[in-house]
Amino acid sequence: MPVAVEGLEGYAAATATCTRCRLAQGRTQVVFGAGNPQADLMFVGEAPGFHEDKQGVPFIGQAGKLLDGLLAGVQLRREDVYIANVLKCRPPGNRDPQADEIEACEPHLFRQIELIEPKVIATLGNFATKLLSGRPLGITRVHGQEQELTIAGRSVLLYPIYHPAAALYTPAMLKVLEADFARLPELLGCGAQPAAVPEPELEPEPAVAAPAEQLGLF
Ligand code: URA
Repeated sequence: MPVAVEGLEGYAAATATCTRCRLAQGRTQVVFGAGNPQADLMFVGEAPGFHEDKQGVPFIGQAGKLLDGLLAGVQLRREDVYIANVLKCRPPGNRDPQADEIEACEPHLFRQIELIEPKVIATLGNFATKLLSGRPLGITRVHGQEQELTIAGRSVLLYPIYHPAAALYTPAMLKVLEADFARLPELLGCGAQPAAVPEPELEPEPAVAAPAEQLGLF
């Protein structure tokens, strides 16, 4: 077994009993992450929801189904990438992550990144984008704009994308997500992006802005 895989599994096992923040009290289990431990592409979402908490796997609810579809659109499967979250435990009622929870959980994410050594990290939504970019700029400003950064001591391409759940609240957002996903092969150095995917002319105003904003998606 490659050292990184062994290291990641060992770290996942150690994290399973984490009590670094209050979320330990209400969780069913720690949702560490899933996918290829040697992936070139890593996705970082926000936090586990109801289904993720029950099953211990990230992005298996409705947003996860959207993520699967977006991956398929660029000929990728879950097994090709690694998927994790900023928070490894479900916040009660799916509320936003709190600053002290993010701070407490951050070492787990940075250690994952260190062990996986991805080339590209696609941050899904505001929380992951702000944490990993180290900048306060929201996802509406920065989505689709890659940035070379040093994270966990290595140079990586950070690529902010809207959280797939944004398309559950604002269906027009799916086109924006598809356009941003379409650039992933190019960013991974896998050659041409599909020519058929047009750039969105205008970023649509969210039809139902309030709930998604409350979820920290924009
Ligand atoms: N939303 C997230 O950000 N992460 C999950 O694992 C599920 C939904």
